[in-house]
Amino acid sequence: MTIASEALKEKLIIIAEHNEISAQKIVTTLKAKGYTDIRLASNGDEIYQLIKPYSDQPEAIGLLVLNASLPGCKAQEICESLASTRAASFIPVVILNDDDFICDFDHCRSPCGDCLTYKINTPVNTQELLLAVKFLLSLKLERQLRLRQEEQLINELAAKNVIDAKLKFLIAHDELTGLFNRSSFERQLRLILNRSNKTQKDGALLFIDVDRFSLINELEGFEVGDRLLVELAILVRKQVPPGSLFARIGADEFCLFLENKTKKQAQTLAETIKYTVDNFRFFTGEVCYSASVSIGIATLDNAISAFHPGEMILHARQACNFAKSNGRDNIWIYSSEDLSVQERRRDIYWVPLIRKALRENHLFLVFQPVVQLSDGYISHYEVLLRMRSESNDLITPDQFIPVAERTGLIHGIDLWVVENAIDFLAALPAYMSHVSLAINLSSSAFQYPDLLSTISDKLEMSWVDAGRLTFEITETAAVDNFENTRHMINKIRALGCKFALDDFGAGFCSFNYLKTFPVDYVKIDGQFIRNLLDNETDQILVRSMVEIAAKLGKKTIAEFVESPGTALKLREIGVNFGQGYAFGKPDRNLLDSKVSIAILQAAQQSPLLIN
Ligand code: C2E
Ligand code: CA
Ligand code: CA
Repeated sequence: MTIASEALKEKLIIIAEHNEISAQKIVTTLKAKGYTDIRLASNGDEIYQLIKPYSDQPEAIGLLVLNASLPGCKAQEICESLASTRAASFIPVVILNDDDFICDFDHCRSPCGDCLTYKINTPVNTQELLLAVKFLLSLKLERQLRLRQEEQLINELAAKNVIDAKLKFLIAHDELTGLFNRSSFERQLRLILNRSNKTQKDGALLFIDVDRFSLINELEGFEVGDRLLVELAILVRKQVPPGSLFARIGADEFCLFLENKTKKQAQTLAETIKYTVDNFRFFTGEVCYSASVSIGIATLDNAISAFHPGEMILHARQACNFAKSNGRDNIWIYSSEDLSVQERRRDIYWVPLIRKALRENHLFLVFQPVVQLSDGYISHYEVLLRMRSESNDLITPDQFIPVAERTGLIHGIDLWVVENAIDFLAALPAYMSHVSLAINLSSSAFQYPDLLSTISDKLEMSWVDAGRLTFEITETAAVDNFENTRHMINKIRALGCKFALDDFGAGFCSFNYLKTFPVDYVKIDGQFIRNLLDNETDQILVRSMVEIAAKLGKKTIAEFVESPGTALKLREIGVNFGQGYAFGKPDRNLLDSKVSIAILQAAQQSPLLIN
C-alpha cells in the first residue's frame, strides 16, 4: 500500500444507512481494513450536518456510503450536489441499492465531470464493499493528482507569458529616445520586405550616423551626449513622413525605412534631414555646438540580395561609411561595386596575414576567468584568440575574424583554437587537472563535418577529459542553421563536452529557441551588464533571463562584469557566474582563485567603496 493511499484511509467516511445492522457491519468491515474516521448518518439531515463543517475543505472527506432509499433524502440530488463541488474536491459515493428500489444514477453529471458512484446491492457483501471503497478512493486520488498537475502547468505558463510580455515591451523600445530599437526595427522591416518582395514596391533605408559624436561625449560627458541624441531624434522625426519606420539602432546611429519611396525621393529627404541638422544649434551652458550627420541610403531596386533586413541595414551602413570617408556631413547611395572594392582591398590585406599567422604560429591564446558568484572560485576560463603582427603588435579577433569568416579561413582558425586549447590542458601539471576551458566556435563551425572528429581524436590522444571543454556558440549561429547545429551539438555533447549560448539577448530571437537548444550555460550579453547598477531596465531583463534559464535547467553567466559591485548585484539577482575586467582581463596566464575570492570578499565587506 502506498503512502498516498494510506493517507486516504485517514479521511472521513460517512455511512448514510438507516438499517442499523447493515450500518454496523459496514463500520466493522472498514475499521478492520484500517479506515479510521467513520461516522454514521441515518437520514438526509444528518448527512448535511456531518458535511457542513467541511464546506471550506471538502477534500478532507474521503467518500460517502449512501443507501439509495434513505429516509428524508433524495439520493440523486445528493450525488449531483457532491459532484458539483470544486473540481479537485469532489466526493465519491458508494450507493447501496435495496432490491425493491429502482435507482438510476447513470446520468448523474456535473460541470466538473462525472459524479463518481459505485452501486452495490443490499444486503452488503463485504468483499464487494471493500472493492468499491478502494476503487473510488484511488480514483479520487488519481483525479486530484492530475488536477493539481494541470493547475501547476497553467500557473507556470501564465508566469512565463507575463515574463515574455514584459520582456517584449522592454525589448522593443530604445530607452533614451523612445524610438524602436534595433531588434524591433529589424523585425518590422522583415515584415515590410516580405510584403514589398511580393508586390515589387519601392522602398529605401536611410542609415543616419551623427558625425564625431564621441567628441561631444568626451568633452561634455554622457549626459550632454544623451541630450543631443534626444534632440536630434526629435528633429529628424519631424521630417519623417507619417507611417515610416524610425529607430535608434546604435549609440549614435538611426535607421529610417521609407515604404513606397523611390531612390530619388529618399535622396531628397536625406538632403532635407542633413540640411535641418546642419542648421541646428545645441547649447550646453555657455557653449554652443553644431552637429552634422552622414547618411547612407540603400534602396530595394538596386539590391536584389538585400531583401533580408540585416543585409539591407548593412548596405545602408556601408554607404554611410563611404559618406563619412568622403569628408562627413555627406550622403552616399549604396552600390555593390563600392563595397566589393573596399572589401576586396581589406581581404587582400588580411588573407595572406591570416594564412601566415596560422602557418607560422603568430596566433596565440589568452584566458579569462569565469567566476562562481556564490563563493568567488573560478569555474573555468574562456579562451580568446590573439594574433601578433609582423611588427609585434597585438591584433584582437574583431579585426581579422570577420575577414576570416568571409573568406573561409575561419575553419582553419576554429580547428587551430580547438587543438591548441586541448594541448594547453594536456600540458598542465597534475594539480591543475580541474582546470577547464570554454572555446568560441565561429558561426560556420558546424558546416564542416571534421570538427567533430578533430575534437574527439584530439581528446583521445591527449587523454584530456571531455568534461573540461565547453563550446560557446552565438545565438545567430544557432538559429541560422537550427537543425544541423542542434544535431552537431548533440553529437559533441555525447562526447561529454558542454555548450554555452553566447551573447544571449543581443539578437533577441526567442526564448523558444533556448527551450529546444541543448546548451548547459547561457551567457548574458555584456550590453545588459555594463550599466546594471544604474539601469533598472537592465536589472529587470537580467532577472527575467535568469528566471527563464533556471526554469529550463540552464546556468547563467554574465559577461562584462566590470566592477565588484556589479558582481554582487548579479549574485543577488541569481546569476550563477560572472566574467569581466572586475575579476581579470584575458591573459596568457591563468588567474588564481585566491584573487577572485579576495575581490568578491572585499566587495562584500565595503560595497559602497567598490561600486
Ligand atoms: P565574445 O566571445 O563575446 O568575447 C568576449 C569579449 O569581451 C572578449 O573580447 C573579451 O576580451 C571582452 N571582455 C571580457 N570582459 C570584458 C569587460 O569586462 N569589459 C569589456 N569591455 N570587454 C570585456 P575579444 O577577446 O576581443 O573577442 C571578441 C570576440 O571575438 C569574441 O566575443 C568572440 O566572438 C570572437 N573570438 C574571440 N576568440 C575567438 C576564437 O578563438 N574563435 C572564434 N571563432 N571567435 C573568437
Ligand atoms: Ca564567447
Ligand atoms: Ca559574448
